[in-house]
Amino acid sequence: MNYKLLFVLLLAGCASAQKAVTPEDFAKTITAQDLKNHLTIIAGAEMEGRNTPSPGLEKAADYISGQFKNFGLKAGNNGSFRQTYSLYKDSAAEMKLTINGKDFQAYSDFAPFFLNKDDLNQHFDEFAFVGYGIVDDRRNDYDGIDVKNKLVVFLNGSPKNYTTALSGRLSPAFISNKIKTAMEKGAAAIMVITEKLPARVNSRSTYRPQISGAAGRTGMNAPIYYVNENVVSAVSGENLQTVISAVDNGNAPLGIQKNNVTIRQRTVQSQASASNIIGVVEGSDKKDEYVIVTAHYDHVGKDAEGNIYYGADDDGSGTVAVIEMAEAFAKAKKAGKGPRRTVIFMTVSGEEKGLWGSEYYATNPVYPLAKTSANLNIDMIGRIGEEYLGKSDAENYVYIIGDDKLSTDLNPITDMVNNKFTKLKLDRRYNGDDPERFYYRSDHYNFARNGVPAIFYFNGVHADYHKPTDTVDKINFNLLAKRAQLVFHTAWEMANREEMVKRDMKLPVGVR
Ligand SMILES: [Zn+2]
Repeated sequence: MNYKLLFVLLLAGCASAQKAVTPEDFAKTITAQDLKNHLTIIAGAEMEGRNTPSPGLEKAADYISGQFKNFGLKAGNNGSFRQTYSLYKDSAAEMKLTINGKDFQAYSDFAPFFLNKDDLNQHFDEFAFVGYGIVDDRRNDYDGIDVKNKLVVFLNGSPKNYTTALSGRLSPAFISNKIKTAMEKGAAAIMVITEKLPARVNSRSTYRPQISGAAGRTGMNAPIYYVNENVVSAVSGENLQTVISAVDNGNAPLGIQKNNVTIRQRTVQSQASASNIIGVVEGSDKKDEYVIVTAHYDHVGKDAEGNIYYGADDDGSGTVAVIEMAEAFAKAKKAGKGPRRTVIFMTVSGEEKGLWGSEYYATNPVYPLAKTSANLNIDMIGRIGEEYLGKSDAENYVYIIGDDKLSTDLNPITDMVNNKFTKLKLDRRYNGDDPERFYYRSDHYNFARNGVPAIFYFNGVHADYHKPTDTVDKINFNLLAKRAQLVFHTAWEMANREEMVKRDMKLPVGVR
């Protein structure tokens, strides 16, 4: 080869090396400082904890859509950045429990587990007491008791020496599972005896969407009430501890008991709304295929005393990561390096109430789910979780959840981009059969159960989880930036690779 020509070629090589644009150039625009600037606003006092629905949530929605617009994203929902859904609230105009002629007071003697939307007028002349109401492979508290069309009464919790191989939400003694058992056996109404009634604010007499089969309400048709010692002693003449001991010792009179019980409830309905915020960076040759990046921008609002739950980590961190990723992809597109597939950036609302926003989107998808290659969902990536406190890799890890499900592509893509770019410790301990059921507890699940392969990014829980102390000053912004860059690189790879992520695995049948 001609030496002179080689020299020219080398020069040309240098010039193009300087000009070559890599995903890293755009990943680098996701900075700790930018994330902090956004989060200071999103998790600021002005947003009042971003309850769904609330004026604070609307302010956050305006801020996010304003950012998307500034970056040059396309409005994601037919010309609008908002996908809005209706919410309904049933307020009890009247709630009455009468047993053997004695009236009991709502919220001092009894309280609804959640408020049924229908008016109720039920009368029973007997109820079925089933102890703790637990059914598992060694124990059947319903043994010999036919509860069909009856009022079923059981104690909250489990007996002192109760053991089960299934922990947390999988336990047959977990309240939702006990309720489900009673429903399956045909209960017409359920009363759970408890030492302490839930507070009125937690009684779920709050807004909810009308989505068919909305999360948490599926098949829950019988009214459910908590009742406390006031009711127990009026009916049995015993105090609650005596009743509990009798059940624990096997001396309690279980089964059908004659008592006149009337449950009356009249409700009035009011309406509100909340939105998902959707912006897109349109793809090129594969623009009719999609990658969707999500985080929930709502949190739990304020408590009765007015304390703000800032939700800086949950999920302000995911929200600002989505904002920064949207900006990075928009910059790439402006530099002529736009994605081949369309990348959808969506912050959803109502997550804390029961994954409402993502359920609404999954039920009313703006972009076909069959053409949505994958969902990358971020919920809490700004902190060091309790399992990593004091560990040497505390500032360099993230939990990867769900890359073992639905697609065999998720895991190698994640490892590939991480080895190449971010070099985080990827902790997959919550994959497989996780008793905490994290896979089923954030927004990606609404994509997964509709067949869209999903990865969930998470830092684990910590002492400030769902407390007013989940604040901006406790966020580790360098770590947040690094984790956001991992999601960015994963989205970049999924948006630009030749094939959509393949769907070659079945979702295990899960309970939330
Ligand atoms: Zn969350």
